[in-house]
Amino acid sequence: MDDTHFDVIVIGGGTAGLSGALTLARARRSVLVIDAGEPRNAPADGIHGYLTRDGLAPSDLVRLGEDEVTRYGGQVVRARATSARADGPGFAVGTDDGREVTARRLLVTTGLVDELPDIPGLRDLWGHDVLHCPYCHGWEVRDQPVGVLATSPFAVHQALLFRQWSPDVTLFLHTSPDPAPDEWEQLAARDIAVVDGEVTALETRDGRLSGVRLTSGRVVPRRALAVMPRFVARGDVLAGLGLAAVDHAMGVGQHVAADVAGLTSVPGVRVAGNVTDLMAGVVGAAAAGVAAAAALNADLVADDARRAVEQRRSPFSAASGARVAEIVTGERRHGLTPARS
Ligand SMILES: Cc1cc2nc3c(=O)[nH]c(=O)nc-3n(C[C@H](O)[C@H](O)[C@H](O)COP(=O)(O)OP(=O)(O)OC[C@H]3O[C@@H](n4cnc5c(N)ncnc54)[C@H](O)[C@@H]3O)c2cc1C
Repeated sequence: MDDTHFDVIVIGGGTAGLSGALTLARARRSVLVIDAGEPRNAPADGIHGYLTRDGLAPSDLVRLGEDEVTRYGGQVVRARATSARADGPGFAVGTDDGREVTARRLLVTTGLVDELPDIPGLRDLWGHDVLHCPYCHGWEVRDQPVGVLATSPFAVHQALLFRQWSPDVTLFLHTSPDPAPDEWEQLAARDIAVVDGEVTALETRDGRLSGVRLTSGRVVPRRALAVMPRFVARGDVLAGLGLAAVDHAMGVGQHVAADVAGLTSVPGVRVAGNVTDLMAGVVGAAAAGVAAAAALNADLVADDARRAVEQRRSPFSAASGARVAEIVTGERRHGLTPARS
């Protein structure tokens, strides 16, 4: 087996990348996954909302996924891809452990970085008591005192959302402008308290969130705090291909633009998961990885057919001479009229 050239290199082996790699390996494509081993949900204790995998540790999902990929002949290496460039009709990828590998196609599934508000204590609690996604962890904080830190135009929406999980929700306006009149009305109607003033720190007791401290010195007791990170695609490795992350239409961060099957503006390079779909959860990222991989396989099938036709037509190919009769028979069998001189 050639360990330096592959049909597809997958950069990023989280849910999207491993799902794509599994699809490609089962399609009998040679596939290499290069993964730096830092899935976005690593801080969380368990994954929720992924049917049949409820509560599974993120590291276990990756381990099980890697087992499945390798069972079908895919290869996985723990490394960071540091460069990607066009290389003849395909691509070359360099890694931080000194490898250079090539492939006919690339699937980029490097995920995103959550840029968090710069408040002392917040980062340490990220993924536990500091949350962003109610569908991922709302159930775990149900009926508890929840705060929502206003850092984006979606803060009121986020507060109304968390109200579905807890009757005790407080919106901290922090440095954001006041809600609009209709939003005040909604907040009041849903019994959501609103606290003025900048948040200066998060207080903890026994390693768990106990309260939100304001500039005034007041501490509002809370067990969980919802924040809205800025979502930034990890797309640096694409720079050598002329692809860059662009502002997302919703104003929530930056992503690599692509269609539903991960098609980018660079032929042969597809993307899937959070690197392009900033809102995708684990199931969505897995599904996108499968869709992009199936599209890549279809690209390769078309490429294989094109090459085979070219080879067959070539007067210098093995198909000339003795094989011509066989080809003519084949054309007849396929209902084609063979060209005769
Ligand atoms: C705290 C937290 C909890 C969450 N909980 C849930 C939940 O319960 N349920 C749910 O549905 N969703 C949850 N999510 C969302 C979930 O994390 C994403 O949906 C999912 O991780 C997206 O998968 P992905 O494959 O696109 O990216 P990732 O899982 O982030 O995988 C990307 C992989 O690419 C690698 N990588 C990046 N750059 C390179 C490079 N240059 N070279 C090699 N490898 C690279 C990374 O190391 C990483 O392993 C949570 C998110 C957070 C932040």
